[in-house]
Amino acid sequence: GTYCFYASEMNERMQTRSKLELDLQSGLAKGEFTLFYQPVVDLEDNKMKTCEALLRWNHPERGAVAPSEFIPIAEETGLIVPLGEWVLRTACAEAVKWPDDVAVAVNVSAIQLASKNLVNAVLGAIASSGLSPNRLVLEITESVFLKNTFANLATLKSLHQLGVRFAMDDFGTGYSSLGYLVSFPFSKIKIDRSFIAGLVDSVESRAVVRAIADLACNLNMRIVAEGVETAEQRDLARALGCTDMQ
Ligand code: MG
Ligand code: MG
Repeated sequence: GTYCFYASEMNERMQTRSKLELDLQSGLAKGEFTLFYQPVVDLEDNKMKTCEALLRWNHPERGAVAPSEFIPIAEETGLIVPLGEWVLRTACAEAVKWPDDVAVAVNVSAIQLASKNLVNAVLGAIASSGLSPNRLVLEITESVFLKNTFANLATLKSLHQLGVRFAMDDFGTGYSSLGYLVSFPFSKIKIDRSFIAGLVDSVESRAVVRAIADLACNLNMRIVAEGVETAEQRDLARALGCTDMQ
């Protein structure tokens, strides 16, 4: 019941995409992916307590491809499952070499969770690296709870029983339903960087950060200010009740 005019860019866009899809598949085998580690620092003693593993793709012709470009494709094609498994294995193997009190955080996609492979992937990564499960933090976003809530919660809880910790990522941007915070034992909430970017100039951002920090504190969770880039933002994050910054 609709129509659409053809434009040659459509063809080009589709070709670029399917090429990227193919390259993505071979990229994993060719070792084109690397992990960058971004520190999360305790605002009380200024010590690094966690590092978040961030996936980067170095394309042989295109150079660095932005995660915002390739992660959605990896999710749509299901490649996120083997890719996510590689990230878990690599990050855990790296983290064993760090001091005992530094944990590693790995982002987990809703697709990985739905694939039923996540528990095995985590168990495999822990077993092969010898990393203590409580040094692994899995970062999940709210999208995880939008579908298959019951099955997803059961999977997450079984991992939690192993000692793995969980962080609610990018909090404040999606639906930010508070129900998730009550029904699942998160050990930290990460406030999305968009609020931190506004800390200095926006009263509204400060109000939101303060409210989330109060909530997290009362729920006995740590509260991470994401994307802190200046000393001023750091001081405000600390004053508003954040316990950590990234
Ligand atoms: Mg994250
Ligand atoms: Mg984040």
